[in-house]
Amino acid sequence: MAETSTDSASNPGPDYGSLHSKLSSVFYSGRSRDIAWRRRQLKAVEEMMSDCEAEIFAALQSDLGKPAMESFATETSYVSGDAAHNRKNLRRWTARKRVSTPLVAQPARSWVQAEPLGVVLIIGAWNYPLQLVLAGMSAAIAAGNCVVIKPSELAPATSAVLSRRVPEYLDPDAVKVVCGAVAETTALLQQPFDHILFTGSGAVGRVVMTAAARHLTPVTLELGGKSPCVVLPDADLETTARRIAWGKFSNAGQICIAPDYILTDAETEAQLLPLLAKVIQQMFGDDPQQSDSYARLVNDKHFERVSRLLESGHIAVGGQVDAADRYIAPTVLTNVASDSAVMQEEIFGPLLPVVRAENLEAAIAHIRRGDKPLAAYIFTRDRIAEDKFLASVSSGSVCVNDVMMFMAAHELPFGGVGASGMGAYSGRRGFETFSHMKAVMKRGWWPDIKARYAPYTEKKFKLLRKIR
Ligand code: NAD
Repeated sequence: MAETSTDSASNPGPDYGSLHSKLSSVFYSGRSRDIAWRRRQLKAVEEMMSDCEAEIFAALQSDLGKPAMESFATETSYVSGDAAHNRKNLRRWTARKRVSTPLVAQPARSWVQAEPLGVVLIIGAWNYPLQLVLAGMSAAIAAGNCVVIKPSELAPATSAVLSRRVPEYLDPDAVKVVCGAVAETTALLQQPFDHILFTGSGAVGRVVMTAAARHLTPVTLELGGKSPCVVLPDADLETTARRIAWGKFSNAGQICIAPDYILTDAETEAQLLPLLAKVIQQMFGDDPQQSDSYARLVNDKHFERVSRLLESGHIAVGGQVDAADRYIAPTVLTNVASDSAVMQEEIFGPLLPVVRAENLEAAIAHIRRGDKPLAAYIFTRDRIAEDKFLASVSSGSVCVNDVMMFMAAHELPFGGVGASGMGAYSGRRGFETFSHMKAVMKRGWWPDIKARYAPYTEKKFKLLRKIR
């Protein structure tokens, strides 16, 4: 059964000591190390995504007004594809990797062998409430760990599906769902987990890392930030507008890797604005509030925060709001000053500011003044500009001439750098995140060269210098 509690932040929180020790016993029984067990669990994730699709879509619709097609592309089919990719690569990833052994250590064989870490904790954010816990869980299972997942309390319908279905499909002794908010997460963080994967804000990331430090628990922090989107004049502007609008207005902009703002010169901005208006109309119609393809803000608090940011510039497209429906229209803002409110925080909503940068150098300088972003985007046909951008801007990921599509490549590691996070997962990198890559050397018995043993002599020293 899922461990569920609804205690508030003022409650010290439940004691998860026995939950942790039961999972530790299962881990030390060796059950989760077994490759056939791992394969079965990963297959079960795929089955859960397919059998429970309607229930999951309904939950995501209820939590976020997420359109079914987005739920499929970025939640169920993503999770299923990721689990299948892990399952199919398991044999290769778990195989010993031979490395060379130098003369000084001969005769010997050396290899790296992946071993599971133990019991891992995965804490998710609300914007992709299914994917963010299940993709991490798949990687942790592929690596042979027992897992606790803690979905976001801000997506209660999806959390309820997870706590109902995960114990039904996966081994309930080795995989647990804990629902709850600050009190429950704080209580979970008291336990000596072997790794923590946290997805959320930098502020809570610091809380998680501080708690983890007590047990020397390694952390992977998947945080957010302002992902810039540079548009150079030589780009195919219509395709650029369509791709940026898709990335910005999917899930009503509540995506950690959404293009946060555009950096472009005055002339390109003048050409881009009508194209943005056109593609927004093509995607969501004359009244996006009536569109089945457009999501809502997750709750009143976020609605109010994002609504306030509308004042940061001139509304060139959109701008309509409806508090009762938590609706904010797909909006483009111009005349946005670098020190305006919308440029001080991650927007995480459907507002697209256009900020002037007269050339690539100015755009790079602008980005470098801020924190290192989770993703960075550039639209250009100029290979030299592309290379300069890649060499000058530090970010978790980059997509050239599109946004967010790197998520489709399971073998591209996903993670931030600096303020946007540390560590990564997805594909082989996810497997390695939840593994200890153990170094092993197996020595032969003969010959046992005596030169290394005391008493040290000039002759032995000379020999050592020679074979080094
Ligand atoms: P959040 O930091 O408020 O919450 C994340 C998780 O932490 C939730 O499960 C929550 O219950 C828990 N939590 C909240 N306060 C806590 C506390 N004081 N102590 C312990 N646990 C606590 O983040 P959010 O609002 O859910 O998500 C939005 C943020 O997440 C954005 O910054 C976004 O960019 C980022 N994000 C990053 C990624 C990524 O993969 N890098 C993906 C999605 C979202």
